[in-house]
Amino acid sequence: MGKLLIVGTVAFDEIETPFGKTDKILGGAATFIGLAAAQFKIESAIVSVVGDDMPLEYLEVLKDKDIDLSGLEIVKGGKTFYWKGKYHNDLNSRDTLVTELNTLADFSPKVPENFKDADVVMLGNLHPNIQMSVIDQMTERPKLIVLDTMNFWMNNTLEELIDVIKRIDVLTINDEEARQLTGEYSLVKAAAKIHTMGPEYIVIKKGEHGALLFHESSIFFAPALPLEEVFDPTGAGDTFAGGFVGYLTATKNVSFSNLRNAVIHGSNLASFCVERFGTERMLSLKKGEVDKRLHQFKELTQFDIELQ
Ligand code: AMP
Repeated sequence: MGKLLIVGTVAFDEIETPFGKTDKILGGAATFIGLAAAQFKIESAIVSVVGDDMPLEYLEVLKDKDIDLSGLEIVKGGKTFYWKGKYHNDLNSRDTLVTELNTLADFSPKVPENFKDADVVMLGNLHPNIQMSVIDQMTERPKLIVLDTMNFWMNNTLEELIDVIKRIDVLTINDEEARQLTGEYSLVKAAAKIHTMGPEYIVIKKGEHGALLFHESSIFFAPALPLEEVFDPTGAGDTFAGGFVGYLTATKNVSFSNLRNAVIHGSNLASFCVERFGTERMLSLKKGEVDKRLHQFKELTQFDIELQ
């Protein structure tokens, strides 16, 4: 079985959307990545940190999906990373109201021995120095290193972020962040600039407008499935990334054509994540539902056109 190593936040999220608000619920980039990747037949592990304010039953949710948590440090007397966000009426944009790093501020990650040879490494959203330290601990160069980040790290740790981007194969980033990182409005120009920074592949996520995969001069586009109800987009980007790397780990094929399939799997899983608050929908998700929606994806994008 393929092995996937995930690093990222395991967090308390407090979310407000036009449809309601939550108290502190389980969130974090690694949480959403892990839950999405768990849809595939792979071995996975999360490297992260929480305080002992994190209820153990929240962590059970991840263990129940067979995710190895031996690299998840629980700091005695520490407070867990906390993020509070509020979505605008169109749900396409949000304001971050609070980001408290807490135990993440001086976390030194330890990759479990049996994951130092992982096939795929997913460097989820957190401090670029932590992402770098995880790469340094690998005993073999993984087949694929994927990195996701966000504006918070660009604003606060840009130099460190640029250093780690040099060492990865795939950058997943949303459209606004791609523009911020490169100073280019055109996403095609932005992707070309990111290529020169290191990664061979760039995935630009455009929320309800789908995702673009760039490789050399080729571009592949996957739409987002038009949904009747979008309730809470939190974690959609991470769920996309989890589906993307989960599929690549399971198939052990990192060709461009397989990365295109991985984009579809990521988009498919993200379409479920947004249907309920936080992780709720991903926890109830059944394989049959996932397969059915994959068929819808195929129908949505297939056309028969005669070309001269
Ligand atoms: P997404 O909606 O996919 O962009 O991810 C939302 C998740 O990212 C939430 O569960 C947050 O806990 C987590 N998050 C928010 N800000 C940060 C940050 N600065 N670093 C790492 N994770 C974050």
